Amino acid sequence: MLRITNGKIYDPANGIDGVVRDICVQDGKIVDTVPPGTTVIDAQGMAIMPGGIDIHCHIAGPKVNLARKLQPEDHRRDPHPGTLYTRSGTGGTVPSTFATGYRYATLGYTTAMEAAVPPIGARHTLEELHDTPVIDKGFYVLLGNNIFLQRLLQEGRYEDFSQAVAWWVDSTKAYAVKLVNPGGDEPWKGKRNSNVKDIDEKSEVTGMSPRQVIESFVKTVHTLGLPHPVHIHCNNLGHSGNYKTTLETMKTAGDLRLHLAHIQFHSYGGELGKNPDSKAAEIVDYINNHPNITCDVGQVMFGKSTIMTADAPLAYVLRGFHKSKWVNADTECESGCGILPFSYQEDVFIHALQWAIGLELFLLSGDPWRIMLSTDHPNGGSFMSYPKLIRLLMDRDFRREEITKVNQKAMAKTRLKDLDREYTLSEIAIISRAAPARALGLKNKGHLGTGADADITIYDENADRELMFSTPRYVIKSGEMVIRDHEFIGDHEGRLLHVVPQYDAQIAETVRPFFEDYYSIEFDNYAVSDEYLHKHEIIPTLNK
Ligand SMILES: [Zn+2]
Repeated sequence: MLRITNGKIYDPANGIDGVVRDICVQDGKIVDTVPPGTTVIDAQGMAIMPGGIDIHCHIAGPKVNLARKLQPEDHRRDPHPGTLYTRSGTGGTVPSTFATGYRYATLGYTTAMEAAVPPIGARHTLEELHDTPVIDKGFYVLLGNNIFLQRLLQEGRYEDFSQAVAWWVDSTKAYAVKLVNPGGDEPWKGKRNSNVKDIDEKSEVTGMSPRQVIESFVKTVHTLGLPHPVHIHCNNLGHSGNYKTTLETMKTAGDLRLHLAHIQFHSYGGELGKNPDSKAAEIVDYINNHPNITCDVGQVMFGKSTIMTADAPLAYVLRGFHKSKWVNADTECESGCGILPFSYQEDVFIHALQWAIGLELFLLSGDPWRIMLSTDHPNGGSFMSYPKLIRLLMDRDFRREEITKVNQKAMAKTRLKDLDREYTLSEIAIISRAAPARALGLKNKGHLGTGADADITIYDENADRELMFSTPRYVIKSGEMVIRDHEFIGDHEGRLLHVVPQYDAQIAETVRPFFEDYYSIEFDNYAVSDEYLHKHEIIPTLNK
């Protein structure tokens, strides 16, 4: 049990903006009151927020592990020492499992969602997430390039499609459905590294266009009542002129919910093959006027990153620019992936433009509940750069100074210089915890009301927002204090968050013959058994 007094509370989900009020904790939850004599934290001069929630990052699974193997130099450069309470690891842009959990905690983050796992990689992912301490976590399963599912659509078997989607989510212990460049993997695999170019281009293999695939998934996930809508990485990531594809993707959802990942990478004007310009205003305008759409930004931060994506054709194109080490891999009939070390540089036109477009999206946003904080870790930069990103949003003078250091031709292509907005603490609490919780359908997270998970971060108030958000004084996870006075005083095992949609188990017999024909493993060894779950929580579907 715990009582926190005298701190200013930022709990936007409950309409509380900087009010001094007590918070009481018992048995891992926030409660109305605790008896006298309970341990008290005096939070005088401090800001109290729910624990941070990363709605889109890459922290576990086969591609993350490949990225670790690819960059041993990062491990040497950035060892993560153990303490009396915590285990050691390695850092860099792709930290080891232990370091990932601890580093998120040192920023006050208590939940993170791995955004792209092929079904066949689920077991590996669950093992790594189990090894990721402190934070609660879940993952999104990649289904957008799944050949069997697209065949069902091609044959018009919509009910079987819906049942099979539910079976795949359940069989992998996933939290949500992810689509990455739907339709892009087959031309990459079968037509020598080419890509699908248009949302209405039909696949020669499955006869389906990306739009048909997206529409079917959006409807099915809605019908199944998954707490998070389809989470999509649109077609044409990174290409000039791709904002049109992004707008068409949003329109395809109609009035149904859709979450667009790292939308910064999908907000470019200009002609294909030529330098892009910013279409942030057009993208934000659509989002502002369509409450069914949510997104995370995927901000680019200067310095080292690791491109790590299920968009295999994209990684193939990028490796041509970078001419360094690189991996492209094909994941049976499910997905592809690509990984390459990368570096965003202030003086490079495109990198500076990407940085500016991300900031424009944040600063033009009409509703912080629907445009959320992410760097698509480690693609746009490490999650460790979140405090600096928060300062860029909150501190106009700092932002202006940073603008002078980057490629000025790129700045001339954006409106960033003219944007005076400064985010408030309450808005930061929205984009980094309250909004992700709401978009994920996590009713017990992202707020500090009675019954919420006692995931609480307490920051020393500091005018330097980067310093403030890099070193919380206290971090409380499920009611246990793991960080006190900036130091770990305990370890904690977080939970796996997953969903169990309803479906007819007979659908497995429809899927089985396809496995026997095309997969390298036996069907009976494919679905993940319950012993992989360890500490876990089933988040209820919306139609229960
Ligand atoms: Zn991503």
